[in-house]
Amino acid sequence: KQMYFPPAVTAVQRCRTAAPVLIPALARKPSLTSAFASAHSSPATSTVAPSAAHVPVPTKRKLKHQNEATKDKVPHDVRQRYVNMFTEEFLKTTANVNDAFQKALAEERTVYNRSVNKLKYMSVAVNALKKLKNHTALAAKADDVALYESLKDYILTEEKLIESNYPFQHPEKSGCAILFADNKKGSADSVKRICCRCGATYSVSQMGKHTRKEECNYHYGKGVTRRVPGGVETRYNCCEGVMGAPGCQVFKLHVHDSLSLDGFVSTVPKHPDTSCPGVYSLDCEMCYTIHGLELSRVTLVNSGLQVVYDTFVRPDSEVIDYNTRFSGISEEDVKGIHTSLKEVQETLLSFINADTILIGHGLETDLCALKLLHWTVVDTSVVFPHRLGPPHKLTLNNLTAEYLRRIIQESVCGHDTAEDAAACMELMLWKIKEDGKLKK
Ligand SMILES: [Zn+2]
Ligand SMILES: [Zn+2]
Repeated sequence: KQMYFPPAVTAVQRCRTAAPVLIPALARKPSLTSAFASAHSSPATSTVAPSAAHVPVPTKRKLKHQNEATKDKVPHDVRQRYVNMFTEEFLKTTANVNDAFQKALAEERTVYNRSVNKLKYMSVAVNALKKLKNHTALAAKADDVALYESLKDYILTEEKLIESNYPFQHPEKSGCAILFADNKKGSADSVKRICCRCGATYSVSQMGKHTRKEECNYHYGKGVTRRVPGGVETRYNCCEGVMGAPGCQVFKLHVHDSLSLDGFVSTVPKHPDTSCPGVYSLDCEMCYTIHGLELSRVTLVNSGLQVVYDTFVRPDSEVIDYNTRFSGISEEDVKGIHTSLKEVQETLLSFINADTILIGHGLETDLCALKLLHWTVVDTSVVFPHRLGPPHKLTLNNLTAEYLRRIIQESVCGHDTAEDAAACMELMLWKIKEDGKLKK
């Protein structure tokens, strides 16, 4: 078996500016306007383009100037399919999803311009794809192929997936997930909620809205038990108040942490070719909405610790609290963001298949936030277990401090998804190297 020896990486290499890169979703349905769809639609239908606001302008402009005479010779969905396939190929050699998408658009346009009819288009496109595949196979991320092989040893078994409460396909309801472990987070349809911060029970309307404005007093820290002369005492680590002391924080409303189990999509088996299904590490942020926890940001990094996908997400439901202290996300960040969970899912499915290895820390929560059914996962909270065993878990901070000798999540505005995702990748690179040494 080929062992993977990662290069010594000391710092998170990021190819991103302060603002996250917004990646256009690769829409499969015409209703979801992608750069391609909006440029390709007739003037009459192009008025439905507000959701295309996040689409890079240059692409739009270039496509608009296309030869009008050849405009309808190839069906839109056929072209879209090739854009998707080209994107998938370019992603193997391009670090950033957006760059890969731009290259794919350019490639497809070249094919389109060289074709006089649909048949010609198909043959040119198939050849272009073949050429691309040969090219990427050669340029191959030899590293990723070896890494993928080495990581196979750490992929969670079905038993572990169940024990760790990963979402599974509901046996009867398509698009719905089930959780095997104790699911007290399942959405209750009653009009009572229990605040996950202070424990108070509060009433909501059928729509999920608070029926009364009631302040929430809570501690954001955890109780820490210490030995003191004559016994032990437990104090909150947020304010050093003794257990049971009134909350040190006040928020205008109570919040609950239900996760809705519908609207799930599943990764699909990859095309039967020989290319590597890929390895990515991911981290999500969530915020409190009237319907519980919802995705507010997602970041993926590759094995080179580069950010390949990073976007803020507009929650589907009304937001109560962005949980800025922990998420680092504020209302300001999400202002003007139109990317929906559905678009995020479509983008992810364009480059992640059922065999892609996803790495994360307690990844079941991220997958629930993304509403993604995926079982080829490596979970650093399982690979590096707590000495007391589950359900005890070490935090990502514990792990990076211990194994990577680095302190993360210290920034005042909550933690950083790119940093956390990179940390998980680094931990696994470290682990593989370490276990490789042991096997010798
Ligand atoms: Zn406190
Ligand atoms: Zn409360």
